[in-house]
Amino acid sequence: MTTLVWDYSREYESERKDILDAVETVFSSGRLVLGPSVSSFEAEFAGYHGVSHCVGVDNGTNAIRLALQAVGVGAGDEVITVSNTAAPTVLAIDAAGATPVFVDVHPDTYLMDVDQVVAAITPRTKCLLPVHLYGQCVDMAPLRAIADEHGLVLLEDCAQAHGALHHGKIAGSMGAAAAFSFYPTKVLGAYGDGGATITNDPTIDANLRRHRYYGMEKTYYVVETPGHNCRLDEVQAEILRRKLGRLDQYVAGRQAIAARYVEGLADTDLVLPVTAPGNTHVYYVYVVRHPRRDDIMEALKAYDIQLNISYPWPVHTMTGFAHLGYEKGSLPVTERLAGEIFSLPMYPSLPEETQQHVITSLREVLAAL
Ligand SMILES: *Cc1c(COP(=O)(O)O)cnc(C)c1O
Repeated sequence: MTTLVWDYSREYESERKDILDAVETVFSSGRLVLGPSVSSFEAEFAGYHGVSHCVGVDNGTNAIRLALQAVGVGAGDEVITVSNTAAPTVLAIDAAGATPVFVDVHPDTYLMDVDQVVAAITPRTKCLLPVHLYGQCVDMAPLRAIADEHGLVLLEDCAQAHGALHHGKIAGSMGAAAAFSFYPTKVLGAYGDGGATITNDPTIDANLRRHRYYGMEKTYYVVETPGHNCRLDEVQAEILRRKLGRLDQYVAGRQAIAARYVEGLADTDLVLPVTAPGNTHVYYVYVVRHPRRDDIMEALKAYDIQLNISYPWPVHTMTGFAHLGYEKGSLPVTERLAGEIFSLPMYPSLPEETQQHVITSLREVLAAL
């Protein structure tokens, strides 16, 4: 069987009864949209993060877009983020009508280089959107200081960082609002699409709720500012409730796999993930780096191992964002990484023998380079 970066079949095997029971619970409840499962999940997910509000939405992209809109980001505003991210981070900024502005990433952690943020601020800058990429948090204290000094809103893209800690604080509790994705591969994944935005601010919460429900306060109510329909599905919410109870277990499973990679690969010339001081890493993806990346990935196919790159094209180099005017070479660390990074299989139910096969094969490939 081909070894892949992610596979949910073993997890489903072990959780099948609970997942199917969640589906049955919703189908027999008499409430199929915005019912008790969504509201319970919202309360539980907020509670997990120690914040007062959570609004369930249909995916992570909309969780970011609604967060931006709920804090008042719109046309004419600039949002500072990174190009080394999943395109949806940037698509959400675009969908909110704002303009993304990119800073480069740190060469060790591949996360937003916070030292470059001040130079990127203009009179139009409204918001900072750090991405807690791969499973660990951006250095938040300096960003908080910059946001306060320049009157900017600080948001968090937590789509890859469920449960990650930063100097004891949990990802999603450090900005005005934080967006999560529950895409199936994520650290907390649904059996389909899902997302949520969390906040401590009741006004932001009210804005989020209106934006996800056509712009209405309640059913058949007046629309003052047109919104959208981006509700979290009741079935996915019930599944997520069950899985939220196992989130710490999933994280521990990922960390154990990461420890085995270190044990098996630390003496090779692969660059393994670096955890920044004060962070716990939840390893949404296990990103390694090597200048001969393409040769390594090609050679691994002979071992029936198919790996991924997160991400092969920095967002600023995509044709869809050519209008932003970033030249090749404008974000040198991001661009160099895109040619050297690749991801090893990482999911809590990854069998130990499969991981061992990956480690052994990689060692053979590296030795033969
Ligand atoms: C997955 C992801 C998103 C988008 O989430 P969807 O649920 O796929 O819309 C946004 N930002 C980051 C960093 C992601 O990894």
